[in-house]
Amino acid sequence: MRIGPVLLSLLLLTGSAELAGCGRGAERGAERGEAGPRVLPMRAPAAHRFGTRAHFDTGVLRMRLAGIQPRWPGPRMPVAPPPRQVDCERLKCVALTFDDGPGEQTDKVLDVLAAHHARATFFMLGEMITEGTREFVRRMVSEGHELGNHSWDHASLAGLSPEALKRELGRTQDIVRQVAGVRMSVMRPPYGATNHEVAAVTKQEGLAQILWAVDTLDWRDRNASVVAKRCGDAKPGDIVLMHDIHPTTVQALPHLLDALDHKGFTYVTVSELLGRLVPGKEYLSRPPTDRGLQAKEARPGS
Ligand SMILES: [Zn+2]
Repeated sequence: MRIGPVLLSLLLLTGSAELAGCGRGAERGAERGEAGPRVLPMRAPAAHRFGTRAHFDTGVLRMRLAGIQPRWPGPRMPVAPPPRQVDCERLKCVALTFDDGPGEQTDKVLDVLAAHHARATFFMLGEMITEGTREFVRRMVSEGHELGNHSWDHASLAGLSPEALKRELGRTQDIVRQVAGVRMSVMRPPYGATNHEVAAVTKQEGLAQILWAVDTLDWRDRNASVVAKRCGDAKPGDIVLMHDIHPTTVQALPHLLDALDHKGFTYVTVSELLGRLVPGKEYLSRPPTDRGLQAKEARPGS
């Protein structure tokens, strides 16, 4: 008959111990002979251990949970604008491409492109997609840019075994899918280094190899006006190579877009420029179509 009050007392005691929290902990710590200030936050070590920024980052948590439990809802994916029908046969199209990011400068590159209603293609390194840059990747998608695979860590793919090659491309495909929900269909081999093996693996992986027709050499010549001038020399149908990790390229961008605007260019993604892509195949610029060739042949003196 006296069990009820005993249980109640026990519950009250437990509750008060719980409420006392740190204070009690400190006493227990003191009993173990630990020195004053060091024992104070009895619960703090646990909070400290698990309370890192990464632990409380909801995006990271969601991704980790999604990794453990595939049906767990992942981070909210960006929504791409509807596909455009751009007739590059008739319009002066140019495909601006940015390699080696996403980096600190990428946000600024996106701002300048947005101001010119320009769409571009970003060939990204998987290792550059971090907590600090993944929002830029999502922004690329929601603003209509194309995402491309530039390997995980800029390895020269032509020197790798097929397994290592698949890993370089596969890891980047995976992180881009996790972060932006996009399956890329274009890749650019670092240094433009490609061979039969790279062609075979990219074909298996469903990736077309995108090289370039205009090299701004912005990685070498960190001079905005030189970069702007080289890009301004682009011809219709060209793919232009730049890097969104150099401040000088970001400085050059408004000027080169002004120059190309003046010449009446339309800025398109690589897929918009090239149309239907063949996995494994190399592209440097928009290949002339039959219709384009006929028009060219019909023109006297060309
Ligand atoms: Zn590169």
